[in-house]
Amino acid sequence: MKEESKCADPSVTELPGVGPARAKLLAELGVETVKELLQLSPLRLESTGTSASCAEAAAEVGAVVQIKAEVVRTRFFRRGGKQSVFTAFLKDSSGTIEAHWFNQSWLRESVLEGAKVTVAGRVGLTKKGKPTLVVPRIGNEEKPLPAPDGWEPVYPTVDGIGQGLLRGLCRLALKSGLELTERVPHELLDRLELPTLMEAARVLHEPNDLALFSGARRRVAFEACLRMQARLQRRVRGDVTGHALVVERDEAQHEAILNLLPFTLTGDQARVVEELRLDLARSTPMRRLLQGDVGTGKTAVAFYALLAAAKGGGQAVIAAPTELLAEQHFSVLSPLFKQAGVKCQLLTGSTPGRERSQLLRRLASGELQVAIGTHALFSDKVKCKRLAVAVIDEQHRFGVAQRTRLLEKGRDVHVLLTTATPIPRTLALSIYGDLDVSVLKEKPPGRGKVTTRWLKKSDGARLLSFLSERLEAGEQVFWVAPRIAAESEERGAIEAHARLSSSSLASHGVVLVHGALDASLRQERLAAFRAGESRILVGTTVIEVGVDVPQATVLVVEGAEHLGLAQLHQLRGRVGRGSGDSWCLLFGKESAAERFELLEGTNDGFEIAEEDLRRRGMGDLDGLRQSGGGIDPEEDLDLLLAARDVVATHPALVEAYLADEAMNEKELSP
Ligand code: ADP
Ligand code: MG
Repeated sequence: MKEESKCADPSVTELPGVGPARAKLLAELGVETVKELLQLSPLRLESTGTSASCAEAAAEVGAVVQIKAEVVRTRFFRRGGKQSVFTAFLKDSSGTIEAHWFNQSWLRESVLEGAKVTVAGRVGLTKKGKPTLVVPRIGNEEKPLPAPDGWEPVYPTVDGIGQGLLRGLCRLALKSGLELTERVPHELLDRLELPTLMEAARVLHEPNDLALFSGARRRVAFEACLRMQARLQRRVRGDVTGHALVVERDEAQHEAILNLLPFTLTGDQARVVEELRLDLARSTPMRRLLQGDVGTGKTAVAFYALLAAAKGGGQAVIAAPTELLAEQHFSVLSPLFKQAGVKCQLLTGSTPGRERSQLLRRLASGELQVAIGTHALFSDKVKCKRLAVAVIDEQHRFGVAQRTRLLEKGRDVHVLLTTATPIPRTLALSIYGDLDVSVLKEKPPGRGKVTTRWLKKSDGARLLSFLSERLEAGEQVFWVAPRIAAESEERGAIEAHARLSSSSLASHGVVLVHGALDASLRQERLAAFRAGESRILVGTTVIEVGVDVPQATVLVVEGAEHLGLAQLHQLRGRVGRGSGDSWCLLFGKESAAERFELLEGTNDGFEIAEEDLRRRGMGDLDGLRQSGGGIDPEEDLDLLLAARDVVATHPALVEAYLADEAMNEKELSP
């Protein structure tokens, strides 16, 4: 690192090997400076493997081991397409063991017979019951494996930033000599049994003692809690004024917007709309989180905000996490905007270049009033003349950094975030710190009931006749497989589609959608499904968020054990949107029985989230965990509460944190 930057908080680009491209990816992890890197919490630690002989390893199925051995023979087996298995037979003086890798055909050239290798991984069993190393890591002289019997951090990553790179960078950051300032009084740290921030960073990035890891992670989380609470204080003190567009309350306008909707708002929707109207009528930018279970009608509330902004003389954007959902919002909302005389356009990653540049021009000139899109809307190229409202739909699906970027960009913009991830309200309030929260609990009236059943493989034939009955009655079917293509014995969406297309149900029209499809094809197929021309939609979990087709009454999920509780609940939200009864039918392994039974027992997302919390922590709410800067809402609840007390009793600490933020803002803004 360069000498002069030692005292401040240098950008990550000061680290060797980090150029602008990597810096951008790191920013997605919320890391822009070296100090932020030092405070990046690993998700967990991974064993580097207990040092073992081949015989010891073979006797310890389930263990993570590290073995030095000779490759006596290899075998390569292609299953068709890109599917392949590479096997190495390893031997040392104690005995032999196999190792398997899937779809890594290049290993044929690097793992050769007679070679001496070090491999580290978990011992599993082959189908025939022989012990095998499952996809172990391989070390050689150039790239040795980390020493056995130790620990390695596993960081949150994004595409393009691997574990190896992050580990290296974090170690470099430790060596840089940069010290993290400790602002928390020592007696307080002692009371909470937390190390100092710098001690914590050392433990996190160069762990050698599992027992210290949890305290270190909590110290970093505590820092995030403190910062958040400091920001909250500032807001409470009214330091945030801002210059957001004031949308005056106008009763005629209000009625006109409501009249555009094809239904009457539920009591909950009407209440939230009132909250929105109050927010929009102030120059303090709105920061509101709208939390509502799947199907509670968040889109209508978002639509209100968008149209009110446009009618009030501003521009408005809504960003959805998938192209599919953005396309759906566009097809549902654009006719309403048109009726209201408001210009509206779609912007996603698939928008053709010419259309895109025209749209960007129209946004910049202020002619275009509403843009509906994906994270493409966050791009630096998107400049609005007078952006008044930004809605981030299903906000937990966006990266922390994307969301932050939008909030930064829109310092003077009213922001509405929506989420279907139901979290207990109290936690939401503390975690989001400086957000106001609105909750939609009530579902629109006249919905049929949704029955959930966990099926056995042997129910397959009965299922087919049940589906045929539903289809004959004019209803439609979602069929979900977690993967696009097959992997080992697991079927993917492509295979499911092929199978259904040659079944007795084929005449009802079977279409396939997944993330790797061309956008226009996907839109075409979804439109056909929506119109009822194709009545069975096979897909991956791309349909999880928001796809809204009321006449679909049956959802079948294969390989459901791969999906978390919250995700399954979201998927289930695809049915039960019409007045008829609906079914959610799950095929999945015994290992996830508890999850399936819970879903069979309740349709209430809040109950599911709370039960999930009780059973196994916030596993499914990872997005939330990330958005809290490494805070684990369950384990760290005491820290959140402690942070609240600390900022209340240590005004100097608040000032110090706010001064840090002000510095950062200055440094980071161009
Ligand atoms: P989500 O909260 O999951 O985003 P949506 O906004 O997609 O839910 O709404 C789900 C369905 O409910 C849509 O078909 C929508 O048209 C319908 N809907 C929303 N609000 C009402 C309402 N007040 N009355 C009747 N139907 C409604
Ligand atoms: Mg929605």
